[in-house]
Amino acid sequence: MILIDGKKIAAELREELRKEVVELKVKHNKIPGLTVVLIGDMAPSQIYVRMKEKAANEVGLKSEVIRYPGTVEEKTVLDKIDELNKDESISGILVQLPLPKHIDKQKVIETILPGKDVDGFHPMNVGNLSSGYESSVPCTPLGCYLMIKKIEPNLSGKKAVMIGRSNLNGKPMAQLLLKENCTVTITHSKTKDLKAECLEADIIVAAVGIPELVKADWVKKDAIVIDVGINKTEKGIVGDVAFDEVSKVARALTPVPGGVGPMTIACLLKNTIECFKRSKN
Ligand code: NAD
Repeated sequence: MILIDGKKIAAELREELRKEVVELKVKHNKIPGLTVVLIGDMAPSQIYVRMKEKAANEVGLKSEVIRYPGTVEEKTVLDKIDELNKDESISGILVQLPLPKHIDKQKVIETILPGKDVDGFHPMNVGNLSSGYESSVPCTPLGCYLMIKKIEPNLSGKKAVMIGRSNLNGKPMAQLLLKENCTVTITHSKTKDLKAECLEADIIVAAVGIPELVKADWVKKDAIVIDVGINKTEKGIVGDVAFDEVSKVARALTPVPGGVGPMTIACLLKNTIECFKRSKN
């Protein structure tokens, strides 16, 4: 079984991006800039933002975090996004989710210029992705996609099963694999026989939030299994896949932690650089 080492693949990607930033600086006399807006003091968001800032600095991006208390008015945030949209030194804007209840998430997402939307959540980017046009792609599925391609460069005709249909994971992941000519099934909480669907799959991407949902007898021999889940349990952080047993049947599997997580952050940097390059064309 191939253990898909997300930490290692992400480190390689960051190194490629670091070199690209140097080249872009020579070519344009400017470096791509990422601005993260963080609202409130939720511990996980604080940790994610710190990790993103560290990774951005490591590859040489200009990075900045704008912090607001959880009580900030929605208008203040929207006005700030407008200001960032107009600032040419900023290539990418990310508003860390989740947001406090009084702030309309969709309004925030739609206020970010599509060309600076490094999360790929703006309806224009969602539409472009599903139409097969160039777009920002949500960081987590993009990271999963790059890992799958490392294992299997030719995905044409493969049967892929997404577990979960969120806008963040399942749906964009399905679009990426569809573009690679996979036959894609999206399953969800109302799917009648999830095990039977999974048993058909050459590729399984589990993004559910249920600890160790996917068992060994759900997985076809030699399937590639990508575990997006992050679940806090008594035995620590586990994914949506029962790692020990599935590792005995799968061809390749991501660990949790150390699989999808590091790739998500590296892909945010990649998206920032892509936004910069598109703005120059
Ligand atoms: P979500 O809650 O938005 O969506 C979960 C999906 O799972 C839904 O579509 C739901 O229909 C489906 N589902 C629920 N129960 C099911 C069942 N019994 N069978 C089949 N499908 C079922 O979650 P999300 O935001 O997509 O996140 C999913 C998981 O991925 C969470 O554990 C989250 O923490 C993790 N996550 C990890 C990363 C990362 O970088 N590693 C990034 C984002 C999310």
